[in-house]
Amino acid sequence: MELLYLGTAAAEGYPALFCSCDHCRAAREAGGRDLRRRTAALIDGELLIDVGPDLLASAHALNLRLDRVRWVLQTHSHSDHLLESNFNFREQGFTGTTPEWWELCGSRPTIDAITAYGRLEQKRLTLRAVAAFETFSLGPYTVTALRARHDMRIDPLFYAIRRGASALLWANDTGAFFPETWQALDQLAAEGVRFGMVGIEATVGTQPAPDADQPGGHMNIEQCGWHHQELGRRGLLTAGAQRFAQHMSHHKSPLHAELAELLRPYGVTPAYDGLRVSVD
Ligand SMILES: [Zn+2]
Ligand SMILES: [Zn+2]
Ligand SMILES: [Zn+2]
Repeated sequence: MELLYLGTAAAEGYPALFCSCDHCRAAREAGGRDLRRRTAALIDGELLIDVGPDLLASAHALNLRLDRVRWVLQTHSHSDHLLESNFNFREQGFTGTTPEWWELCGSRPTIDAITAYGRLEQKRLTLRAVAAFETFSLGPYTVTALRARHDMRIDPLFYAIRRGASALLWANDTGAFFPETWQALDQLAAEGVRFGMVGIEATVGTQPAPDADQPGGHMNIEQCGWHHQELGRRGLLTAGAQRFAQHMSHHKSPLHAELAELLRPYGVTPAYDGLRVSVD
């Protein structure tokens, strides 16, 4: 598999739209890896993770043919991951050619939100509700949905994705993994699954870890690093596994170079927009 990072920022982007804090000013000056669109990814040019607000900007910046996308995994329905108008632009009148049909999987509340957009046939869209801890096929991929610790009213998910012998884990918009999520991961390990690439969020950056009984819906750098290391301890990583942090916020995440230093002790690298990862 090849995973392409379309975006690596938290909800308001980095630099944020209307912010001139120290991080945002420095990021505008630095450009390059310090300009982050909202988090999303494209696998093998055909499987999209999250139909978010920066999809068009990503397509322009990275010269993508998104009409070729056939499958979508939607993590949850927050507005930094799901934009209704993207679906409208799949309809005739907005597109002069016929895009590939989409099969989109997400939790029941996510599917209900997209169903409400209407005209699914015209949007060339099949929706499938999946439950946390369900393993299902999506085209050539085998996917396991995992429960995220986030806004629990909307049943947020993240995903373990396999194709042939290669596997990756994509985890953002989650605090510390739930015990049942670790159980499901242990089950994958028992089945012989080893991730060659892992992306875990580090939204709240240098902010202190929340109390154990108030774990919060995002992770800081320390938690991100600990989760990467714990995956290794549980035998879930390949020998050469590539480990990334993603979904960075301007409030608490420093610029790319400083973030790389803070993540280095954990063997983790900050992802950046346009990063391509070959997954063995
Ligand atoms: Zn988010
Ligand atoms: Zn800012
Ligand atoms: Zn969210």
